[in-house]
Amino acid sequence: MPRKLNRILVVDGSEVARTIITRILNTEMPDTETTTCGTVEEACAWLERSHFDLVTTALMLPDKDGLELCRYVRASRHHHYTPTIVVSGDADARLLREGFNAGVTDYFDKSLGYQAFAAFIMDFAQRHSGLVGRILYVEDSQLTATVMLRLMERHGLQVTHTTQAEEAIRWLRDTAAGGPREDQAFDIVITDFYLQGRLTGGDLLHAIRARFHYSQQEMPVLVLTGSEGGEKQVEVFHAGANDFVSKPIVEEVLMARIRSLLMIRQQFAALKRQTDEMHRLAITDSLTRVYNRRYLLDHGERFAADPGNQPVATVLLDIDHFKKINDKFGHVIGDRVLEALGRLLLERLPESALPVRFGGEEFALLIARCSDADARRCAEQLRREIEALRPADVPITVSIGLSNNQNRPDMSLTQLIGDADRALYVAKAQGRNQVCA
Ligand code: GH3
Ligand code: MG
Ligand code: MG
Ligand code: MG
Repeated sequence: MPRKLNRILVVDGSEVARTIITRILNTEMPDTETTTCGTVEEACAWLERSHFDLVTTALMLPDKDGLELCRYVRASRHHHYTPTIVVSGDADARLLREGFNAGVTDYFDKSLGYQAFAAFIMDFAQRHSGLVGRILYVEDSQLTATVMLRLMERHGLQVTHTTQAEEAIRWLRDTAAGGPREDQAFDIVITDFYLQGRLTGGDLLHAIRARFHYSQQEMPVLVLTGSEGGEKQVEVFHAGANDFVSKPIVEEVLMARIRSLLMIRQQFAALKRQTDEMHRLAITDSLTRVYNRRYLLDHGERFAADPGNQPVATVLLDIDHFKKINDKFGHVIGDRVLEALGRLLLERLPESALPVRFGGEEFALLIARCSDADARRCAEQLRREIEALRPADVPITVSIGLSNNQNRPDMSLTQLIGDADRALYVAKAQGRNQVCA
């Protein structure tokens, strides 16, 4: 099944090249949307905000290296599987040396011309039926490994080969979430069942399922077995394998199994992205992008009581005379003011702070490891920055109330917010645009 290319990102430093490529692709592939840009920085920005099915890049770009873009694509959560094609003058030695590690899927020699480039992309779409992925391959027979590696790499797969289960386990540990090579996580594991060394393929499977807690969807495992009968095969499945292929390996069979396991893994990754995104939406205020009130109610108490967060400062921040701003400029402008204020809070607040939209034009900030004096300084600085902000060209000021559990570590969140609210009331009564504790 040929991969359908809905959207292509073409990265090339030359505007003339971009114009010509776009024109040819639009003619030859009318169903495909072509986006072009001239620098790695712009390309990364595009990849951040939308999805592409294929990225093509020149090797040399005005700001950075095309290979750096390939590495970025491979490390990105949303484009981890997106094939990348490098367009270069000739078979650059560096390309051959570094291209594979950078995650380059294929190369195109640009001296062949633009028309050939379009043909190459169409052919690529036919040929390239979704075999993009990073594979951990454990095999102690050098002969089998050589054949298998050549075969898998020819299909565009990135393979890390180890000869022992012990070494594979080290790789899995380093590439697990939070590990030093987290960005190089594997999509599937392929292992020989019989391995020299203390551990067998069965032990490796056990480690993957029981120690790393990878489900069959999160880390599919394909086992290579000899030509034994049913009993051995049952053992392989009991050990937690998704599937097996028996030696001698038949290329078509192997590729079909790999393809279906990569599909499982990709579907799992897509589902996880969706779940994460839904969770993010559920705890975020859509207008201001800070946490919503629900999140504060669910997590604020634990945040305030966490021994690692002490002392905790609470800041209540309320826009002065916001009703008048709505009355004078309209609700749309009022919304833009709130949006800009949320952005400022997200930019300015330290990592240790939890910013929340507490009510209509009122924000609550919980700041961890923040003394009373630090909170005053921070609040005063925020007040001044907001006064200078003029969001949507509207001058605004805020009143701020502070409280701190520095001397009363057992204060509840409700008490902290109550204190800050009283201080806010005083700030308003004393003439607004000020901080009170
Ligand atoms: P004060 O200085 O005493 O805080 O005066 P204020 O006008 O800011 O306070 P008040 O609580 O009387 O009014 C808050 C206003 O905020 C009323 C409401 O219409 C407006 N508001 C609340 N949420 C939103 C919103 O999401 N968008 C817009 N545009 N306005 C909002
Ligand atoms: Mg073996
Ligand atoms: Mg107000
Ligand atoms: Mg208010």
